[in-house]
Amino acid sequence: MNSKIKFFQSIRFKIALVLTLMLLLTLELVGAVFVRQLETQNLNNFKQQITLPSYVNNSLATQLNRTNTHKANRRIQQILSEVNNNNISEIRVVDTKAEIRGTSNANNQGIVGQRSEDSAIKNTLLNGRAHTENIYDNNNRYYVSVVPLFTTNGNNLVGAIYMRANLEGVYRTVNNISLIYVSAALLAIVLGIGLSILISREITAPIEEMRQQTMRIARGDFSGQVRVTDNDELGQLAGAVNNLSVRVEESQEASESERRRLNSVLGHMSDGVIATNRNGYITIINQTALQMLNYDDDDDVIGQSIIDVLNIRSEYSVRQLVDEQQHILIDMSKGDQNNNDGLILNAYFSPIQRESGFVSGLVCVLHDVTSQQKEERERKEFVSNVSHELRTPLTSVKSYVEALTDGVWQDQEVAPHFLKVVQDETDRMIRMINDLLNLSRMDSGTAKLDLEYVNINELFNYILDRFDMIIKKEEDDGTVQKRYTIIRHIAKKDLWVEIDADKFTQVIDNIMNNAVKYSPDGGVITARLVETHRHVILSISDQGLGIPRKDLSHIFDRFFRVDKARSRKQGGTGLGLAISKEVVNMLGGSIWVDSVEGKGSTFYISLPYIPYEEGDEWNDDQETEG
Ligand code: ADP
Repeated sequence: MNSKIKFFQSIRFKIALVLTLMLLLTLELVGAVFVRQLETQNLNNFKQQITLPSYVNNSLATQLNRTNTHKANRRIQQILSEVNNNNISEIRVVDTKAEIRGTSNANNQGIVGQRSEDSAIKNTLLNGRAHTENIYDNNNRYYVSVVPLFTTNGNNLVGAIYMRANLEGVYRTVNNISLIYVSAALLAIVLGIGLSILISREITAPIEEMRQQTMRIARGDFSGQVRVTDNDELGQLAGAVNNLSVRVEESQEASESERRRLNSVLGHMSDGVIATNRNGYITIINQTALQMLNYDDDDDVIGQSIIDVLNIRSEYSVRQLVDEQQHILIDMSKGDQNNNDGLILNAYFSPIQRESGFVSGLVCVLHDVTSQQKEERERKEFVSNVSHELRTPLTSVKSYVEALTDGVWQDQEVAPHFLKVVQDETDRMIRMINDLLNLSRMDSGTAKLDLEYVNINELFNYILDRFDMIIKKEEDDGTVQKRYTIIRHIAKKDLWVEIDADKFTQVIDNIMNNAVKYSPDGGVITARLVETHRHVILSISDQGLGIPRKDLSHIFDRFFRVDKARSRKQGGTGLGLAISKEVVNMLGGSIWVDSVEGKGSTFYISLPYIPYEEGDEWNDDQETEG
């Protein structure tokens, strides 16, 4: 479109050429007719001028009729010399026998009396009719006219007059006039060419201006205007181009603001959006989709195939996505062992269709369903865990009861042992069901906290005292199962913390029990209580089995146990730490563990705490606040 038009292809040249050719043709035609006409006219005039008056003819005829030839010839010579016509080169008079009786040429009097051999004369004498012809003699054109002479009564042919006139003068005049015409025509052509160039430039200048303006419009520059000079067709076209420029600018602005709006909508969507062309190559992708798919920049994705970017090439083709309009689950952690927190996305596909039904692209909406999927998975896992955990004790209860009914009940030694197992297993199931009920209450938010300000220092010491008592009592009774020593590093200060004392006691009990359970006989358990700026932190360390590094992150999961058989043997349910975590969370605190396998573990609990200062009437404040 930008290419320069060659001069010979331009309209300007074509118009100039046509005008010039028309001028040439006109001048040529007019010239041809004019010269022809001029020539005929001049020749006719000339012929009229050289016609002899009739009295000369009559007197010549009279002389030819005389019998005295000598006298007649003299008289003829006299009459011819009296003819005063410069146009006539020579006049000859012949009688019926073709004998020349006189000539106007004074230097050629010798031919008088000779017979003329001229065929024109012979013809005229033979048929009595006038004869004319043009001849060429000595590089000169001549006009020859032979006129028959009759007696005055007009009946008898007496001879003929032969006339010869030089035509060169006539032709010279015609040529001179033609030359003037040709010069004038040449001048007219030169002027005409100049004029037609001017006219064609005048016509094409606005066209050129419009061409440049439309090219500017195409480049997106709407600043220019085509000048509208006249109200002719070109003027109207120029007006239309200006109008077009305004319209294009408006629609450009409209589509630009539409694009910005779309971008802002896409940018603020919480769902990922990808649009592709009909071959599945990405044309638009929003920020959310980039983040979901772990890309930094849309340049990395634009132009790529959507099935590669979503990593589903092995399962789906672009055709399938377009035709089946399905939604599919995409697991971003798949194939990436380290990426355990990879998102799970639900991708909805829908084709972009024109009214004709032609599919021009594909839109994919990515919805993050990670938490739903995780919850769903956990729920299933939980149900399966519960079923499994309850089936194991039930199976063993069933088999012991069967053995008893089969007659073991009569065996004084074995029966009590069997019944003890049945009782232990049933206790464990009840404990588990109670734990589950507690958890479920906390999950659903129906668990009530009985909050009060408790001196955590005193409570912690009280619980630890109980554990000291248990081991002392067992030692006294001789029923000791496992020996342990508790060492305390507890701040001597009163620390008032708002907690549910019963639930908190359960948590500490649980951690203390674990510390005893998962430690060999004779271990040392260290209990600490420290105060930080806004928290109190309790910790319980043991010298037991410790927890393998890979299990540390699962230790607070429901039913998780490092060694299932060992835990079950100790009467554990695998729910203790899960409940502890829920309780601590409800109290606004946090719980975590630090452990080295084979060396021991430390469990930490941190609770929010507002330091009490001497003279601070915080009790009243609290009441008024709340
Ligand atoms: P359980 O009823 O099995 O004790 P918990 O939820 O109290 O259930 O504990 C979960 C698992 O954490 C236990 O089975 C055990 O493998 C591990 N565990 C808890 N406390 C300790 C500890 N102090 N030392 C080593 N392992 C522990």
